[in-house]
Amino acid sequence: MNEIPTDLKIIGDKLQISWSDGASHQYGFSQLRSACPCATCREKRKEETAPTAADSLALPVLSAAEAQPLTIQGMQPVGNYAYSINFSDGCDKGIYTFEFLRQLGG
Ligand SMILES: [Zn+2]
Repeated sequence: MNEIPTDLKIIGDKLQISWSDGASHQYGFSQLRSACPCATCREKRKEETAPTAADSLALPVLSAAEAQPLTIQGMQPVGNYAYSINFSDGCDKGIYTFEFLRQLGG
């Protein structure tokens, strides 16, 4: 699979990617955010899916940034194979390879 993005557009709360083979996919910001492949977010998701007895009683608290509607503040090409996505809640570490994005949109 060697398709590459030819166009990126923000439409409402979605990112639309047009691909070199003519396909076009839309990705919800929260869908992309919850798939963030960076180490910090992967750790966080692991903790959330395996709560300890101690924090199972605690209510989740959103930080000020997390309470804002999620947006994408920027995307940077990484080499010729991926984009990093800068989310409004502070994470800009995720490297989304083209292949990963194709799978998400599939
Ligand atoms: Zn992340």
